[in-house]
Amino acid sequence: MDFSESRTWAEVDLNALAHNYRALTAMLSPGCRFLGVVKADAYGHGAVPVARRLEELGCGYLAVACLGEAAELRQAGISAPILILGRTPAEETERLLVLDLTQTVVDAESAGAFSAAARRAGGRLKVHLKADTGMTRLGWLCAGPLLEGAAEEMAAACALPGLEAEGIFTHFANADGDEAYTMLQFTRFLDLLEALEQRGVRFPLRHCAASAAALKYPCTHLDMVRPGIALYGHYPDPSCVGLDGPGLAPVMSLKTRVMSVKTVPAGTPVSYGCTRVLERESDLAVLAVGYADGLPRLASDRWQAALAGGRAPILGRVCMDMCMADVTGLDVRPGDEAEVFGRTLPAEELAALAGTISYEILCGVSRRVPRVYLARA
Ligand SMILES: *Cc1c(COP(=O)(O)O)cnc(C)c1O
Repeated sequence: MDFSESRTWAEVDLNALAHNYRALTAMLSPGCRFLGVVKADAYGHGAVPVARRLEELGCGYLAVACLGEAAELRQAGISAPILILGRTPAEETERLLVLDLTQTVVDAESAGAFSAAARRAGGRLKVHLKADTGMTRLGWLCAGPLLEGAAEEMAAACALPGLEAEGIFTHFANADGDEAYTMLQFTRFLDLLEALEQRGVRFPLRHCAASAAALKYPCTHLDMVRPGIALYGHYPDPSCVGLDGPGLAPVMSLKTRVMSVKTVPAGTPVSYGCTRVLERESDLAVLAVGYADGLPRLASDRWQAALAGGRAPILGRVCMDMCMADVTGLDVRPGDEAEVFGRTLPAEELAALAGTISYEILCGVSRRVPRVYLARA
């Protein structure tokens, strides 16, 4: 792709990814493994190039949301172990085996179905059991009076033929916000591990820390950490900033181009709904980015673009494919580049004014936006 032709593109700096990977792995105890979360097309960064770079860096495990995402990586030649975090129908067991994938198991019923299907296929399916310690999403509930029953069922699942219970994990609901609740979940997880050990079950890979816990609570690292957002250079919460030492570097910058520039008289309304009326004569640039590219419509009249060494406030409503920016006083011409978010304009700030989080801004960069990978330094 000739990116000088693109109207809008996402610059993906894989050197920044490498920096973040090194910063995060430097926080781990020796022997603690690193699972890179590359679900949702690596949070919009492109799963294949990101996974390839992580593999080169020595990342020993990857995770995706579903079988389709895992298959894409295998087809691209990624050979690292891949954990599927979501549910896969047992009918797909043969495909899981052929692609050498690791499947999350969330209850006794699906454990039985995977076991039966793996035996029929003549294989052994690698699984990680999921414990629900308080996220209230997938997995065996195991708080308080439910502990022994969960341990009993999970031990039985581990003993099923056709399954190799390589791992066990849980997920924190509020690691970025609530230490007490996180430690309650962690204690439940440790209690479960102990109850399983009493039944003679031990797992090579026990894991619970996504980015926030990996940064804030080293005691939760266990055998492996599971960061996603931090790899892409974003802190899950301001309270995590600086905990990694060198500081994370944003990997993605959304860039666009100026389509036209004109001087518009005072009193003129701008964009749909005529919500914004120019108070003074202004130089307006039309930018080739809109909500269909991933610039939230909630950024209307509130966000800015960085171009020509300055900042240009977005005026009026963001349209599907375009928006208008006030470039008065800046030397701007059609074809000029502008940053929508990235190194200069943090995705976190755009997220905050759109009432969301950086994760959704990154994942929201749409399919029509080409990803351009920066050459190695
Ligand atoms: C998405 C996800 C992660 C990564 O979370 P981040 O906050 O992006 O680090 C880890 N584990 C599970 C189970 C997830 O769903």
